[in-house]
Amino acid sequence: MHYISTRGAAPVLSFSEAMMTGLARDGGLYVPQTIPALSAGDIAAMAGQSYEEIAFRVMRPFMGDTFADDEFRGLIAAAYQGFGHAARAPLVQLGPNHFLLELFHGPTLAFKDFAMQLIGQMMQAALAKTGQRITIVGATSGDTGSAAMEAFRGLSNVDLFILYPHGRVSDVQRRQMTTPNEANVHALAIDGSFDDAQARVKDMFNDFAFRDGVRLAGVNSINWARVLAQVVYYFSSAVSLGAPHRPVSFTVPTGNFGDIFAGYIARKMGLPIEKLVIATNHNDILHRALTSGDYVTDGVRPSISPSMDIQVSSNFERALFDAYGRDGVAVAQLMAELKAGGFHISQGALQTLRGTFASGRCSEDETTATIRTTFAQTGEVLCPHSAVGVKVANEHLGTTPMITLATAHPAKFPDAVEAAMGVRPALPPRMADLFDRPERMTRVANDLGALQALIRERMNG
Ligand SMILES: *Cc1c(COP(=O)(O)O)cnc(C)c1O
Repeated sequence: MHYISTRGAAPVLSFSEAMMTGLARDGGLYVPQTIPALSAGDIAAMAGQSYEEIAFRVMRPFMGDTFADDEFRGLIAAAYQGFGHAARAPLVQLGPNHFLLELFHGPTLAFKDFAMQLIGQMMQAALAKTGQRITIVGATSGDTGSAAMEAFRGLSNVDLFILYPHGRVSDVQRRQMTTPNEANVHALAIDGSFDDAQARVKDMFNDFAFRDGVRLAGVNSINWARVLAQVVYYFSSAVSLGAPHRPVSFTVPTGNFGDIFAGYIARKMGLPIEKLVIATNHNDILHRALTSGDYVTDGVRPSISPSMDIQVSSNFERALFDAYGRDGVAVAQLMAELKAGGFHISQGALQTLRGTFASGRCSEDETTATIRTTFAQTGEVLCPHSAVGVKVANEHLGTTPMITLATAHPAKFPDAVEAAMGVRPALPPRMADLFDRPERMTRVANDLGALQALIRERMNG
């Protein structure tokens, strides 16, 4: 299995190389050269299997000879053993034809644990074979960083540095990043915004001398291995509702387009998905793009669903690559226009995208109202991101069963939930002592040189 860049001008890589590399050197994103198909029989045979077994069958065809089968099964088992629910991704029913996929039973209570726990295991196993070390640097608005700290702490071949905007993440998110006490993980509170943190990480990847010198790797949502791990729960949930014999649709609370792009891959592999519905908060660039064809940036406005507060959706580039007939030159041209503010999606590409994706937007008031009414009608407590999904899904219900992804546990965003329904959601018992654990972090300036010096000094330490 070979991986190619969406901009067509970077080296072709193997699965493990793509996993370690993150962003391609031409600025593009890695995608598989071909998408392996599963037959209706393969999909039907997943019925009744464990989440781990389905994970093995879905991901194995993408991985070439990176791991022996038994080894890969062991990594999957290790990745999901810390989850707080035996089903890993349980499905609950909200209404006659509407289901909620609870993706928040992992160690940091957000769906990002599904991918991060697994790539922690896969990277460590791949590096242990060659004795190499890598340095992972990531920027986070909260959930990615906490999931990464939890996944990589204590792994012997990895140093992890997470930059988060000082004072702008929730208390739960911050504590999940600052309380792991293993020496190989470092929480860095940057004096700046999430965009500043992300820009400094990009600078480090574009400084090839630094990148090669510290063996820099990325685990942000453009990492192909993360997308792949997320494909699994589209299969497990659809099969439990009767796929491949019965099609389903999904609604996905969307920010960087990584989670919903995993659904797109599941569909290309042969899972009968009718529609993939993009749900955005008031940062609605994707909804506007799909409606008007204009992909135009508009500044980020903070919301009560902060993990979806984005200016541009990085992974959308992968969907554009396919919609433009896998023309890397065309994609590179669009991304150059985006730097100047935006671009218009061609009529043909827009038609293609609309064949798979639908979209909707949810305002702040609608988010709050959906938390309140969903609790009153079903007893299910939604986090604000999941509420954005449920609101948009309710507008797309039909004869096909709809599965809405619940992307975080309500206790991760207690203020917004309490404001909506008057009750403060409690942390699950297994992490009830989060607020008693000592915190450890370093305040850093928004300065590339200072950050690089700090990383050089701390790595291998
Ligand atoms: C990251 C995140 C999202 C957005 O997912 P993308 O893959 O970036 O589209 C939605 N909800 C929560 C809780 C998240 O942490």
